[in-house]
Amino acid sequence: MADIIQLLPDHVANQIAAGEVVQRPASVVKELLENAIDAGATSIKLLLKDAGKTLVQVIDNGKGMSVTDARLSFERHATSKIRNADDLFNLNTKGFRGEALASIAAIAHVELKTKQENEELGTHIKIEGSKVVSQEVITTAKGTSIAVKNLFYNIPARRNFLKSDTIETRHIIDEFQRVALAHPTIAFLLHHNNNEVYHLKESNLRKRIVAIFSAKMNEKLVPINEHTDIITINGFVAKPNFAKKKRGEQFFFVNDRFIKSSYLHHAVVNGFDGLLEHGTHPSYFLYLTVPPNSIDINIHPTKTEIKFDNEKALYAILRATVKHSLGQYSVAPVLDFNRDANLDTPYQFQSKTNGAVPKITVDPNFNPFKTAQQPAFTTNNQYKKESASWEALYTTDNPFDDVQQEELFHQNTQTDTGKTFQIQKKYLLSSIKSGMVLIHQSLAHQRVLYEDFLANITEKEAASQQLLFPVKIGFSSAEIEIIYTVKSDLESTGFQFEEFTKDSVTINGIPTSITESQVTKILEQLLNDIDLEVPDSSFSHVDVMAKSFAKTLAIKTGTQLTENEQENLVHNLFSCKEPSVSPTGKPTFKTLTLQEIDHIFNS
Ligand code: ADP
Ligand code: MG
Repeated sequence: MADIIQLLPDHVANQIAAGEVVQRPASVVKELLENAIDAGATSIKLLLKDAGKTLVQVIDNGKGMSVTDARLSFERHATSKIRNADDLFNLNTKGFRGEALASIAAIAHVELKTKQENEELGTHIKIEGSKVVSQEVITTAKGTSIAVKNLFYNIPARRNFLKSDTIETRHIIDEFQRVALAHPTIAFLLHHNNNEVYHLKESNLRKRIVAIFSAKMNEKLVPINEHTDIITINGFVAKPNFAKKKRGEQFFFVNDRFIKSSYLHHAVVNGFDGLLEHGTHPSYFLYLTVPPNSIDINIHPTKTEIKFDNEKALYAILRATVKHSLGQYSVAPVLDFNRDANLDTPYQFQSKTNGAVPKITVDPNFNPFKTAQQPAFTTNNQYKKESASWEALYTTDNPFDDVQQEELFHQNTQTDTGKTFQIQKKYLLSSIKSGMVLIHQSLAHQRVLYEDFLANITEKEAASQQLLFPVKIGFSSAEIEIIYTVKSDLESTGFQFEEFTKDSVTINGIPTSITESQVTKILEQLLNDIDLEVPDSSFSHVDVMAKSFAKTLAIKTGTQLTENEQENLVHNLFSCKEPSVSPTGKPTFKTLTLQEIDHIFNS
């Protein structure tokens, strides 16, 4: 029988390898940025089109490549960064596998322009699916530009697998932030579809964090500095009172490389030692420097885990350092010795000229029932009465039988019956023919508001109230990007935007169902919810938005309701299409039949 084993052609091998290195546009961004840093660049530009699906281009002013190196750089296992296995244990570069460019060139249209400092002319190479289609001499600036176009053009399955532009953009921004935070002394520019997203000047760590995460961040940062024989720790943790509901801004860097470590995370949280409110997460930006030979970085290219030689000691040092620094801060809260006076002035100035922005407060006792014309609760009563929906009540899968459904609905459409009681400012209890029903007031109201919003959005009514004075709200550029991508959905709920800048949005119209004082909270909650949605493939902005609004605006546990308000809520709940679950899938009520009650008492 003939031999059947063959060596795979290079372009096939590269395509297979690419599957590991390049999962999405953000992977390309990471590899190209890291190459630019390894090349000693002091200024790096990242240009994107369509969330990187059409173009990812990185332009650096690093050392460039010779003609031969330019050509070789696209070969697999071609690297200038290590020569032998020993070098693996003394890495000072990001790359070392020599795989990235070969992989990227196998699955995209790649254009390289590069020139070394002492050379007159540079090299221009075009590669498509691992094939060099042209190589020319060009005049170009010192450094390297690599443009990666039409990612996965030859692997439709992978291309189709990419997520929405919003999600892919966020992955890219994540990578960009990690690299930019690891290298505050390098200037970075990020443009997306010709809009400037980040313009980060060469600076120090504190300023870099502030430039990325908005001005608000400056006052939150507590400096961390610790030097021991086995590790140096620098950076900042955010004061505990600024801890967030979402796990956003948590960054570890080891020898300037972003890593994830639940073990070290635990050490930091432990260092907060009871200072964190339950369910909140501290922000931190911690830079660990260890001898290169005490870590094993020989990991999968896209993974961010790392192994340390002396994990236990690192844990103890980290925990103690965080604790110590926080202690210092709470003893002397004003003594923030790393403070940079230049940073403070503009914000104070800003808040003076635009007093409305920081003054927005959210009334925690806000009760949408209190004013009769408060539409969050009333807009759709009309709609509900008309369309709701004996039919809907019967056709939805509800965990209780038709008789009860009918009874519940009937009960609450009659004004003279339906006595309700509020229990612990949390539940409503109402007697029904077959027994009783216990309703969770906040979850029930979420359901009502959720259906209201969905109805509004899908009916394209978009009733909007004009604000007398437009509200300007500050956000980080990453947040602005996200708000911008859901702009039209927000508009369909009644929001009107006057202006988007790099770090603020100005709003001049809001949905009739909300009040001005709720705007900031609503948008922040929305950003948070969109953030949490990432892994979910059934991601729908409109749905997330409706859920988010409902959650923000619903009456909370602890709110006292008048009898009238209680009845309204019960009525509106049972006019919903799916009264039995909250928008996030929790039960909104439970019925207890007389039989079940009898059973309790054995009577
Ligand atoms: P690695 O970074 O692991 O070495 P890559 O495939 O990313 O592998 O890059 C291959 C080689 O191409 C690098 O080792 C480097 O010599 C060269 N190279 C890549 N990008 C640049 C750049 N922006 N500037 C200068 N040289 C570069
Ligand atoms: Mg590389």
